[in-house]
Amino acid sequence: MASKEQHLQGFVSILRFRGSASRLDLAAALGLAPSAISSLMKPLADRGVITSQGTTVSGGGRRVSMLALNPGFLPALGVEVSGRGIRSVVTDTLGAVVSRRDLVECPRDPDKLASIIRGIIAEERTSSGIAAAGIALGGPVDAAGRLWRDSGRWGHGKDIALADVIAAGPPVLLTNDVHAAGLAESRVGAARDYGVVLYVHAGTGVRISIALDKRVYTGAHGVAGELGHTRSADPAKLCYCGNYGCIETIASIPAALEQISAARGRAAGTGASSLTVDDLVRLAGEGDKLAVNTLTRAAEEIGRSAGDAATLFDPDAVVVGGRLVEEVGVFAGTLRRVLRSRLLPIIRGDVQIFTGSLGRDAAGIGAAMLAQDAEFVRLGLLSGEAVSPVSRSGNASF
Ligand SMILES: [Zn+2]
Repeated sequence: MASKEQHLQGFVSILRFRGSASRLDLAAALGLAPSAISSLMKPLADRGVITSQGTTVSGGGRRVSMLALNPGFLPALGVEVSGRGIRSVVTDTLGAVVSRRDLVECPRDPDKLASIIRGIIAEERTSSGIAAAGIALGGPVDAAGRLWRDSGRWGHGKDIALADVIAAGPPVLLTNDVHAAGLAESRVGAARDYGVVLYVHAGTGVRISIALDKRVYTGAHGVAGELGHTRSADPAKLCYCGNYGCIETIASIPAALEQISAARGRAAGTGASSLTVDDLVRLAGEGDKLAVNTLTRAAEEIGRSAGDAATLFDPDAVVVGGRLVEEVGVFAGTLRRVLRSRLLPIIRGDVQIFTGSLGRDAAGIGAAMLAQDAEFVRLGLLSGEAVSPVSRSGNASF
């Protein structure tokens, strides 16, 4: 028989992952009498965890009081570290963005990076009262959210215990940026009404993530979803990961820049010209033939692979995001079209394909929500099993 603590965690889990609920909903879901729900509510209300969220009219015409997590209970910071800079958001307990800030500077040196993040955490602790911080990084992190693994792309050359290096007041949790973004889109973004959500990110890296019932699947080693390192149609090119023929070698922002620069250099009879991501987006917007064709081919390649991934995972919704999707219409359109064409015909009409609704905030929101989940576990309000489809082995003490 379940203990009172398990009932309490079940109560919080329903509000965290399904949203607001009436006492009768909670009683039915937990298999308890309504009177038992009242005795669970009291300590949660006293601690400020839950709040009454107005009333709704039930099927019988009665006004029913709805319960929800208190938005002010656990504000958190989410920081996204990427080639575009450092973006941070403060979210309330429910993942709504309260404030955001952008820093263009994003040092490659991990100590300098940690110092900047430590400064943001200190400021937001004072100004916003954040209780936890999640850091979304390009590349994999370990299962416990402490270690930033060396994937070969960022160039730090070794695994770094970045959470410990930051070591600032509130608990700090590391997460992969695409795992975080996919989680955010599945909880509070474009796919919030869906249970099995495939998120496809196309930018400097190419990755997918899977959110199952509002929990992100990270895999046994934290590297689930590395679509960019699956096999492309062109096996000749060596990837920074050490394998040949990865999708990222022909279909990613760096690959597109390299291809267009080389083609322009050949046309001009000079060496490869240098191009930036901003140039690439602008040229595609102007209809430049090289940019449009390169990005169309990249979108076809990613769309085919992401469609195959969708066939493997059978999602009810797919969300596409990342800078190329957000800023290059021909890329987004091609990706969505090819992806749908690769879905198994019997589900092709049933799978919703969305463009992400959270834009550049997605990874920060997801990181903040993962940090909140971990804090709920630390406070005994959620079980460790409730927050992840993969049990976090090793140092799960956050
Ligand atoms: Zn690779």
